This record gives sequence, C-alpha cells and structure tokens, in this order.
Amino acid sequence: MAIKSIYGCIGCGTCKLTCPTDVIQLKPNGKAYIAYPEDCQICHLCRLYCPVDAITISPDKSIPVVVSWG
Ligand code: SF4
Ligand code: SF4
Repeated sequence: MAIKSIYGCIGCGTCKLTCPTDVIQLKPNGKAYIAYPEDCQICHLCRLYCPVDAITISPDKSIPVVVSWG
C-alpha cells in the first residue's frame, strides 16, 4: 500500500479531484476514504493539496517497481 491513512478529513473533496488514479472516493457524508489503495502511484498530490494535512503516504508499495533495460 502507498496511501496509508486519512485522519481528520473535513470533507472538502480536493483529494478526490486531485488523485490521477481515483484511489480516493467520498462517502455520502463527504468524507474521503481510500477506495483503491493498490492503484496509488505515490505522487503525493492528495497530501500536498489537503488543506488540513489529513493524508499520510507510506513509501512502501506492495508491488515492486520493475525496471528493465538493455
Ligand atoms: S499519492 Fe497520488 S496516486 Fe496516491 S492516492 Fe494520493 S493523489 Fe492518488
Ligand atoms: S483533501 Fe483532505 S480534507 Fe479534503 S476531502 Fe481529502 S482528506 Fe478530506
């Protein structure tokens, strides 16, 4: 997992609009939740744009990055 937790969300919806891979969705009450953690690209946009610093990103990723060359 890359995006780790959302705590203290005020329901502004910015992170849902910001995430390029739709990892974050909003509950009926407007609060954000992590819907598709496996799709997180660790771009940190959601964290940077959250006005209350509610999002924690872990550097870990469950699927190792594959690099091929040569
Ligand atoms: S770090 Fe990037 S890809 Fe991951 S949930 Fe946040 S905006 Fe989406
Ligand atoms: S940007 Fe922050 S406050 Fe706004 S919905 Fe997302 S987690 Fe909640």
